[in-house]
Amino acid sequence: MKEVILVKFGEMALKGQNRYSFEDILLKQIKYRLRPLGRFIYTSAQSTIYIEPEEEGTDLDEAVSRLRKVFGIATICRACVCEKDFADMQKKAVAYLKETFEDAQSFKVEAKRADKAFPMKSPEICRELGGTISEAFPHLHVDVHEPDVTVVAEVRDTNAYIHADKLKGAGGLPLGSSGKALLLLSGGIDSPVAGYMMAKRGIQVSAIHFVSPPYTSDRARLKVEQLCQKMTDYCGDVNFYCVPFTKIQEELRRRCPEEYFTILMRRLMMLIAQEIAAKEEALALITGESVGQVASQTLHAMVCTDAVCHVPVFRPLIGMDKTEIIEIARRIDTFDISIQPYEDCCTVFTPRHPKIRPQLAAIEAAQAAGDFEEMIREAVEGTECKRFRVVF
Ligand code: ATP
Ligand code: MG
Repeated sequence: MKEVILVKFGEMALKGQNRYSFEDILLKQIKYRLRPLGRFIYTSAQSTIYIEPEEEGTDLDEAVSRLRKVFGIATICRACVCEKDFADMQKKAVAYLKETFEDAQSFKVEAKRADKAFPMKSPEICRELGGTISEAFPHLHVDVHEPDVTVVAEVRDTNAYIHADKLKGAGGLPLGSSGKALLLLSGGIDSPVAGYMMAKRGIQVSAIHFVSPPYTSDRARLKVEQLCQKMTDYCGDVNFYCVPFTKIQEELRRRCPEEYFTILMRRLMMLIAQEIAAKEEALALITGESVGQVASQTLHAMVCTDAVCHVPVFRPLIGMDKTEIIEIARRIDTFDISIQPYEDCCTVFTPRHPKIRPQLAAIEAAQAAGDFEEMIREAVEGTECKRFRVVF
């Protein structure tokens, strides 16, 4: 039996004229993910994309599992393709839905009749097809309010389609429809989640990571690269920038008061990140901070950090508890990588008694004691870039 996949868009359906460009971007993302599985014919109509495999034996299970990670999709379902002939629809519905009905007790039928020339009207399709199903599966009863299975019969231009269980898509907006931003990616639990959340809003995410060899090891960097690779599941291809940060941290330790280390480090990271963002044509920065989680994430500290930023800094986790963040990290499968115990450049240089409520003037004075300008330029020049691609 011939099957297709129906993909319904989510929120972008609301975007008026822009909708067409959203649709194009979504279609491009879908094609990129499905291309390795074979050739498909794509048709779109009424907030739905019809994906039809050209060859028999195409792995549709795999196609569906890939589509579930594509932002901009509200629901996904598989449907069987019928002739526009009611007898064919009846026959195929019974054969196609057999497994679906095995564990069900109740069902209802909905009909969508896009082709108004089709001889039967929607209520009639529902009634007749409902009758056929009841006869073929006597253990089922009709429940129009809370059915276990909702069968949908769609009659369109060239074919009719029968489908049942809908899967939830990843939601959000298609990647790249909202521009690009640069994520400060550490090896921790939070920042990959922050990247995922902004990608969900259609932002193409690039990542920047600061290393301080020999204080931080190759293993720590590899862990972050692993995270970056994992992030491509949802974020698509990710450009990864690795910044040598040792000299700056040593200068900090030499010249600046210890209690300000973390905030000064944060400010210096932001200064470098903004230069890389400009090269990447990224319009904003993203961090995994959440208010009060650690000393550098108090409101006072963030004010001092943001004082060096001339681009917006997005902190999508700002109001979330750690447990909520962990829940998402598990769901997107970054958690197990994040908890591998490798040191981060921040932890290596953590002050014993960090200032919880730093004042901007004091921070600026502390920073002025170091000679950072040239070092920042060197760090930017010494930055390595790698591209992580979606793995198939
Ligand atoms: P995470 O779990 O994301 O590491 P965290 O709770 O450990 O966060 P911090 O270590 O204070 O918090 O870092 C706060 C944010 O600063 C991180 O979410 C990340 O965006 C950024 N950051 C920290 N260390 C680095 C690093 N070595 N390279 C790039 N960004 C970093
Ligand atoms: Mg961290």
